[in-house]
Amino acid sequence: MTTAVNKEEARKRLTPLQWHVTQEKGTERPFTGCYNKFYEKGTYTCIVCDQELFSSDTKYDSGCGWPAFNEVLDQGRVKLTKDTTHVGGNLLLLIANPDMVRTEVTCSKCDAHLGHVFNDGPKPTRKRFCINSASISFHSAGEEKKST
Ligand SMILES: [Zn+2]
Repeated sequence: MTTAVNKEEARKRLTPLQWHVTQEKGTERPFTGCYNKFYEKGTYTCIVCDQELFSSDTKYDSGCGWPAFNEVLDQGRVKLTKDTTHVGGNLLLLIANPDMVRTEVTCSKCDAHLGHVFNDGPKPTRKRFCINSASISFHSAGEEKKST
């Protein structure tokens, strides 16, 4: 898949943690992310390519230690992929523990790893998008929208 983002440029611009999370599917430590307890009005964009991903309107406190969103700004903004890496392809384990299958959330534009989505969120969507602070950038509602 082609990407509009220059990875060399991104590597220089991103912090080591931001790079690790978005490009190496890392996970920041819980309760350490700058957006974990952050509820200002605005929009969250992909830290790598600036695509708008989430609105503060759907952000809620899930208590899980990472920023949680009830819904994506627009379904096409993210890609969802079943992630069975931590059951190691062990189907019996998988059948016994269906909750162990996580769905990975990536940016649809640049493939940056954002986090995972679970089905234990609040109504109406029941979705809990568990997103790394390191993968996103906040733009307050009052801020001039950047032209891309
Ligand atoms: Zn992106």
